[in-house]
Amino acid sequence: MINRHPESDLMVEYATGSLPLAHTIAVTTHLQFCEECRNTTESLKDIGGDLLQSGESIEVSDGLLDRIFDCIESGKDEISAPLKKLCSDKVANDLPGYVSNLLPEGNLDWRKLTSSLRVAPVSVGEQDYELSLHRINPGGKAPKHYHRGREITVVLKGSFSDEDGVYQPGDFIVREPGDTHRPFATRNEECICLSVLEAPIRLTGLKSVLNPFLSFSPS
Ligand SMILES: [Zn+2]
Repeated sequence: MINRHPESDLMVEYATGSLPLAHTIAVTTHLQFCEECRNTTESLKDIGGDLLQSGESIEVSDGLLDRIFDCIESGKDEISAPLKKLCSDKVANDLPGYVSNLLPEGNLDWRKLTSSLRVAPVSVGEQDYELSLHRINPGGKAPKHYHRGREITVVLKGSFSDEDGVYQPGDFIVREPGDTHRPFATRNEECICLSVLEAPIRLTGLKSVLNPFLSFSPS
């Protein structure tokens, strides 16, 4: 059961097309799981009508933006079957079709951050935000960290918990700058999440800064 949904201001921005691409992807991913928010989006679009405006132009890979917006327009939020899945990483089979169609061709570039946490970047041509998949082993703990920027997480598979609760597939979790938490996956299944980060997170208790942006350099 989904307990965490995007806030209403985010939904309004989504329905009017004014969210950055990475955030649009995060909300659309939540809509794969959440009928309630799909209905909200439709209502907002009806109300918004001619207030709809397009976002700023950004460079994305061929056809990707079309696919995303086709998907939003369709109301079903699932990219239609004829599109061939390019990503051969086996994790793609475990994810909603919408997400696996965003993944790059071939295998994902998984980077081991700790013994139980791996991260793979998903490039969609965004400069200001980092979109990535996070994977926590069954029962694994992510390092305790605080956020210097806003982070949006959508659970795709499995579940994880932290000091504030338990999060299931579809849950849309927003962490604000300054929040500190320590997520850990449930014991019986690995947990896979989609994340949008505005700024690198810092691990508490470690000297290094964990930079989840494309370099992933723990310098
Ligand atoms: Zn929802």
